[in-house]
Amino acid sequence: DQIGNRSADSLLRDRAAQVIPGGMWGHMRAAAVPEGYPQFFTGGKGARVTDADGRDYIDFMCSWGPIVLGHQHPAVEEAAAARWRGGDCLNGPTDQAVELAELLVRTMPSADWALFQKNGTDATTGCVTIARARTGRRRILVARGAYHGAVPWCSPSLVGVTAEDRAHLAYYEFNDIASLEQAVADAGEDLAGVIVSAFRHDLGRALEMPDPEFATAVRALCDRTGAALILDDVRAGFRLHLGGSWEQYGVRPDLSAYSKAIANGHPLSAIIGGDAWREAAATVFVTGSFWYTAAPMAAAIATLNELHRVDGPAVMRASGERLRAGLAEQAARHGFEVVQSGPPAMPLMQFVGDTGDKLGEAFCQEALRRGVYMHHRHNMFLGTAHTAEEIDRALDVTDSAFSALARRRG
Ligand code: PMP
Repeated sequence: DQIGNRSADSLLRDRAAQVIPGGMWGHMRAAAVPEGYPQFFTGGKGARVTDADGRDYIDFMCSWGPIVLGHQHPAVEEAAAARWRGGDCLNGPTDQAVELAELLVRTMPSADWALFQKNGTDATTGCVTIARARTGRRRILVARGAYHGAVPWCSPSLVGVTAEDRAHLAYYEFNDIASLEQAVADAGEDLAGVIVSAFRHDLGRALEMPDPEFATAVRALCDRTGAALILDDVRAGFRLHLGGSWEQYGVRPDLSAYSKAIANGHPLSAIIGGDAWREAAATVFVTGSFWYTAAPMAAAIATLNELHRVDGPAVMRASGERLRAGLAEQAARHGFEVVQSGPPAMPLMQFVGDTGDKLGEAFCQEALRRGVYMHHRHNMFLGTAHTAEEIDRALDVTDSAFSALARRRG
């Protein structure tokens, strides 16, 4: 694995730097995590991942969302492998496309139909297209700072993006009804849709759950104007509520985007919607070379069945609460003031007054060194493989990480 005292990870990084722009692209580039974090991995099992140098970690990022039942979940992998052996990429979908759509329609009260793609961006973009197709209008309202994907209409970077790509977007503040009303008024007759995240999960700031009154107001404004309420449930979907993340507020979207956890790591995304939006969904042109592949759909069916069987959201909530309580107790005992935010299954811990996130970064580095992979700026992800025993093992590590941090502070 190693040459001299160079790690396998650093050797791979050197090779990548020659042939991959910037050494790595996107949200999983090592530049986006604290120094010392590995870039390359060789495996995962349950709540653990293994890096290119053979080090194991209890994993609190779950591949940044997709892994909801633990890495290499046997029932999911068997379902996918059986489909692979029979053929995955054919001249059309298999019966699993219909079965999966039926399963989503049964599971999600706002769904009368589903269609499938690969990435979350495909799904959010498709929702926007369907909203415009049915309404014949252009304007889409987006919460300032929200992430909806990696194409020009919504990319968080403006590099390579033109003003025209964003011409029909306008912005509101999440949880601020007045700002949304103003944006709706400004849009006038041109309002096609309002896109909302399940909760506010902008990078580097405390996570914020939707105020139920805000959720109700979004629904009412869309009903009044005929605009589509689009729920971007790509990140939170299947972790908070199997029926959709706004079910708990009694608010049903017109169109929703899912991906990440839908197939426990297999590449798939979905748009689901209500009957009123069916014809528009049938007439827009949405497709892709791999959008019909069957193994990810087989994996999704197995994933959803397993999430139903074990009541995945309840399991993850309990594990998240156990983690949160442990971290709160340790922080207090070691003399640190922390803020823990977000739903327990998708938590974030930040240090109060932590300019430049330096304490958060140091804490994560100390935890990583001891075998726990966390993040200090992005919400983390739990899965059903985070049993009470795994949480307790992780808490042993975080206790030492707090100790080390207290020693460093001095
Ligand atoms: N919406 C949200 C809320 C997301 O978190 C993400 C992915 N981080 C996306 C959309 C885009 O999904 P993808 O990266 O699969 O295109």
